[in-house]
Amino acid sequence: MQDPFGRHISYLRVSVTDRCDLRCVYCMAEDMTFLPRREVLSIEELDRLCSAFIRLGVRKLRLTGGEPLVRREIMTLIRSLSRHLRSGGLAELTLTTNGTQLAKHATALAAAGVKRINVSLDTLRPETFTGITRWGKLENVLTGLAAAKDAGLKVKINTVALKGVNDGEVHDLVAWCGAQGFDLAFIEVMPMGDIGGERRLEQYWPLSMLRADLERRWTLTETDFRTGGPARYVDCLETGQRIGFITPMTHNFCESCNRVRVTCTGQLFMCLGQEDNADLRAALRESEGDARLEAAIRDAVSRKPKGHDFILDRRASNVSVTRHMSVTGG
Ligand code: SAM
Ligand code: SF4
Repeated sequence: MQDPFGRHISYLRVSVTDRCDLRCVYCMAEDMTFLPRREVLSIEELDRLCSAFIRLGVRKLRLTGGEPLVRREIMTLIRSLSRHLRSGGLAELTLTTNGTQLAKHATALAAAGVKRINVSLDTLRPETFTGITRWGKLENVLTGLAAAKDAGLKVKINTVALKGVNDGEVHDLVAWCGAQGFDLAFIEVMPMGDIGGERRLEQYWPLSMLRADLERRWTLTETDFRTGGPARYVDCLETGQRIGFITPMTHNFCESCNRVRVTCTGQLFMCLGQEDNADLRAALRESEGDARLEAAIRDAVSRKPKGHDFILDRRASNVSVTRHMSVTGG
C-alpha cells in the first residue's frame, strides 16, 4: 500500500480498548466516560481487521490502547494474530503497555512470538508515580518489567518529559535503564484531548532542553537508527543502550511516516494529528467477506495527508486535536 506521497504503509497501530486501569494526568481526565461495549470492536473483528491490513502489506503491528492488557481475551487475540508471524506475513507483533498487568502476561506474550514491548514509565519514585497515574503503584510495573525480562522480552521504556514532575530524575532513568538493559525514549507532551485546564502547557518541557541536560553527564552519539516514526535515537556510551527523543511538537517527521492507526471502534486515522478518518467498523459489520473492508482501507490510505499540524499555543485553545491519546493509541 502506497499513499499519494509515495510512502509505503507497513505499520499499523491498533487501539484494542479505550479503557485503562490508570489515569495518567496528561492522558485522561479522572472521571473518564468510556465507550459502551457494543461500539468497541470485538476480538473477532479486531482479528479480521488486523489480518486485512496484513494482507495489504502491513509488516509491523502494535497493539495499544487505553491499556491493551486490561482488554478481556487480549491473549486470545494475540495468540490468534501470531499465526501471521509463523506464516511470515507479519514481521513483528508488539504492544505498548503501562506494565501493570505484565507479571500475569509476560510469559504468554513471549510464547506467542512477541519479542519486544514498549512500557510507559515516567518515574522511578513511588509517590511521583502515584501522582502522575492518579492511583497506580510503581511496584506493580517494576514486578511486571522483571517478569518481561525473565520471559526474554526486549523492553523499551517510554517516558513523557514533564517539567516540574520528572525533570529531576532523567539521569536516574538513563542509569536504571542502562543497568536493566532497556532502551529508553523520551516523549514530549502532546496536546491531545481535553484533560482540564492549562496544565499541559505548564508541564511542556522541550526535549532539546532535556537532551542538553543529559549531555552534561552522558556521552551521546547520533545514530541513523530510525523506526519510521517520530523518534530520533542516540547511543549512550556509558550505558551501551539507545536513547530516543520523540518530538512531535518541534520536529517534522512526516516525510518518512509509514504508519496508520485504528481506534478501538474501528476508525482508521491516517495521521495522528489530523481529523480525517474512515469507518472500518461499518465495513466490518456490514459484510461477512473482507472485500469491502479492504476497499475501505485502500481508499483511506489514498487520502493520507502529507503531515500534521499540532499547535501548543496560549493564544489558541490548548487542544489542537480533540481525541484523547487513549482513543487513537500512543
Ligand atoms: N496504556 C498504554 C501505555 O501507557 O503505554 C498504551 C496507551 S498510551 C496512550 C501510549 C503512550 O502515549 C504512553 O507512552 C503515554 O505516556 C503516551 N501519552 C499519553 N498521552 C500523551 C500526551 N498527551 N502526550 C504525549 N504522550 C502521551
Ligand atoms: Fe492509561 Fe496509558 Fe493513558 Fe496512562 S498513558 S492513562 S496508562 S492509556
